[in-house]
Amino acid sequence: MSNRYDLIVIGGGASGVLAALGARRAGLTGPVAVVEKESQPLRKVLASGNGRCNIASLAPVEGHYQSDDPAFVSPVFEVLPAGKLLAILREIGLMTVEERENRVYPRSFQARSVTLLLLNALRNKEVAVICPLKIREVKKQKDLFFVEADNGDLATARAILVAAGSCASPDLGGSRAGYEILQALGHRLNEPVPSLVPLTLSPHPLIQYAEGVRFRGSVLFKGTSGVTARTEGEYLITKYGLSGIAAMELGGAAGRSVSPTAAAGTIEIDFLPELEEEAIGQILMAADVPDDDWRIALAGLVPDKIARALVNCVAAHDQVSSSRSLMVGELSRKLKYLEVGVTGTRGFQYAQVASGGVATADFDPATLMSRLVPGLFACGEVLDVDGDTGGFNLMWAMASGYLAGQSAALYLESESS
Ligand SMILES: Cc1cc2nc3c(=O)[nH]c(=O)nc-3n(C[C@H](O)[C@H](O)[C@H](O)COP(=O)(O)OP(=O)(O)OC[C@H]3O[C@@H](n4cnc5c(N)ncnc54)[C@H](O)[C@@H]3O)c2cc1C
Repeated sequence: MSNRYDLIVIGGGASGVLAALGARRAGLTGPVAVVEKESQPLRKVLASGNGRCNIASLAPVEGHYQSDDPAFVSPVFEVLPAGKLLAILREIGLMTVEERENRVYPRSFQARSVTLLLLNALRNKEVAVICPLKIREVKKQKDLFFVEADNGDLATARAILVAAGSCASPDLGGSRAGYEILQALGHRLNEPVPSLVPLTLSPHPLIQYAEGVRFRGSVLFKGTSGVTARTEGEYLITKYGLSGIAAMELGGAAGRSVSPTAAAGTIEIDFLPELEEEAIGQILMAADVPDDDWRIALAGLVPDKIARALVNCVAAHDQVSSSRSLMVGELSRKLKYLEVGVTGTRGFQYAQVASGGVATADFDPATLMSRLVPGLFACGEVLDVDGDTGGFNLMWAMASGYLAGQSAALYLESESS
């Protein structure tokens, strides 16, 4: 690291890279550096969307973000709605395409295209990318920030932008470093929990018999703390519990419900949301199968291994298994409301994002500058903002980054005049 910068961006993820580009676009000509602690920037972008990178959503943003102040995202997306963000990406050469459910992907369907073009844009705009280098501490004295790296390197900057992300997915660079830097400068932290993360379940015949099976359905999570959440879509039964996008969307609610003394809650699985319990009962009653072989009777409704698990749950009671009508009643109920205990989530290691982060109240949503430390900006997931699946997280990272970078440039200009 050389010694003097106008702007140092801490973190080379989607938010940090867009912040540097935003600062240049707003006219900042002095030295700008993006400092990244991993061996390469943009590691989460590269892994995103299973390597396809669901980069944004063209759906209305209302209701798609969780935050200590859900209105905090509005000014950012008023200035930089998805269309404008995609136009900025188009300017650096990235073509995009809209797929089902308003999800936007690079036209190449490769995250690699996004990282190549973003890094090329940084090079063209003469932004120094310094990695691997971890920033340990930031202090402000008079009008200047003093930045110290883990290797003892020191530098000064007239403005600092913290784009250090969350502690989710440590294997891809997630850490608490950004929280700690902002806390040391007086900011409050809303303790994050893992979100967009698989659920861990109590031992159950479903796991014993149906591990590895995918199903489409609907799941209601009922937390011991009273939180409830429901999702619909595709789920995957695993040896530890429930995965797949729709299960991961319940992860935040489950994460918030975990306590040191109690299980997180229960899930109620509806394997056939399109059918009423009574209609399922009629189908089973009418099934013409040898010796009331319930696995065959269920074969038209659910995958065979799930049928096996359900029959196992019900047939354990002799009284039930000996009566055709009791069996039909119990199986229909289990197909609609199979209850399984939730012990928690797979934790930050397997979480795509963290729910929680640095309190937004101490940042101006119109500029993303700290209300406590002038010249200090933050953006992306380090703040207490997380989105639903479908491109909302990268869109927040990029839009908030670009806006924070532009604001930093305007701040520096006003300070010079
Ligand atoms: C597997 C996976 C798939 C995903 N898929 C999608 C998807 O398809 N669509 C979507 O919208 N979202 C997706 N997400 C979420 C999305 O990737 C993140 O929300 C987004 O990347 C956050 O951007 P960020 O810049 O705020 O943080 P990050 O991308 O985490 O970047 C922060 C960077 O700062 C660096 N850093 C931290 N501390 C320091 C320090 N002290 N000094 C120097 N550098 C530091 C980190 O190493 C990191 O590179 C996915 C996440 C994961 C893990």
